[in-house]
Amino acid sequence: MSLVVSAALAAAAVSACAASTQVASPSDGSLSADTSASSSAASAPSPASATRVTAPALSASADTGASTAEPSTEQVPVPAPVPVPVTSEAPPTTTTVTTTTTVTPAPAAPPAPPKPTPAPSKTPEAPPPISTPATPVANGQVSGKVVLIDPGHNGANGANPSTINALVDAGFGETKPCNTTGTQTNDGYAEHSFTWSVANSLKAQLEAQGVTVVMTRSSDDGVGPCVNVRAAKGNDAKADAVISIHGDGSSEGDRGFYVMTSERAPAGSDMAALSLNLAGTVRDALVNNGSSPANYLGSNGLWKRSDLAGLNLSVRPTVMLEMGNMRDSKDSALMKSAEGRQQFATGIGNGVLAYLAAH
Ligand SMILES: [Zn+2]
Repeated sequence: MSLVVSAALAAAAVSACAASTQVASPSDGSLSADTSASSSAASAPSPASATRVTAPALSASADTGASTAEPSTEQVPVPAPVPVPVTSEAPPTTTTVTTTTTVTPAPAAPPAPPKPTPAPSKTPEAPPPISTPATPVANGQVSGKVVLIDPGHNGANGANPSTINALVDAGFGETKPCNTTGTQTNDGYAEHSFTWSVANSLKAQLEAQGVTVVMTRSSDDGVGPCVNVRAAKGNDAKADAVISIHGDGSSEGDRGFYVMTSERAPAGSDMAALSLNLAGTVRDALVNNGSSPANYLGSNGLWKRSDLAGLNLSVRPTVMLEMGNMRDSKDSALMKSAEGRQQFATGIGNGVLAYLAAH
């Protein structure tokens, strides 16, 4: 109960980011309780018509009603800025400890750091570069899989409102604005920059495991592409997983990530089940990597939505991630830091790799 109420109250905040890109159709008739509430709530503060896609509307719509009404359903432990797990960390093999200090017979070099880089040569095979237990991915296990990464928004969207506001197919006979500017931190760090950074770190992690990565955009200073084009890229690539990355714009105190899937099963129940599995796997991996599920939306880091074009147009296993609240001081600090972004990317990547290995 409290969750439903919370979601309804805070839905306006979501409109600052992911929802705002697709809130144009104010009501989906066949919504369930929570999402219908969110739909109405989202439409209330800002008429998500083609004219509201600029930045001011985004921030204005977000921070009004949600904060005061937020009942703080559960104080999820603050995701401490956990240092990024060192990728070259030597796997804890059992016998390698024997050669710790004995290998310094010849005083060749005066200072001679004892063992500068033991990791590379000691991992002949199966070197899980990620240290969390959520990634039982061996070499070659996911090679050849295809992942579409969708960094939300784009750097020149704000300067091209006519393009961005144009209505496009949103699935199920609906239309939505092509795209939006996205949100930003209170001191101006843009969501598109955040998503671009996380996406590229994720891309590197996946490619290192042999995954073929397709990106929905190739730079951070372009326009679009529109939400329908982004979805089509994943469909055309027959992606084994589609990962759309966003940052939310809610109120101070609203913190944490959530993973959204389509409630409407655009490609049938089997594909919807895969999307849900992907969402749960990514959620678990993020938690294992030190991130906390949102304390203001969704349920334990998951949220089914019926109003997001990117989800409703995809016929592949698809999730849309809100990695944190860019309007919260603590979340924004994490999102602005390179270490924080790498932590997010690693968590996502661990989950994607685990999912790919299992399907
Ligand atoms: Zn967004």
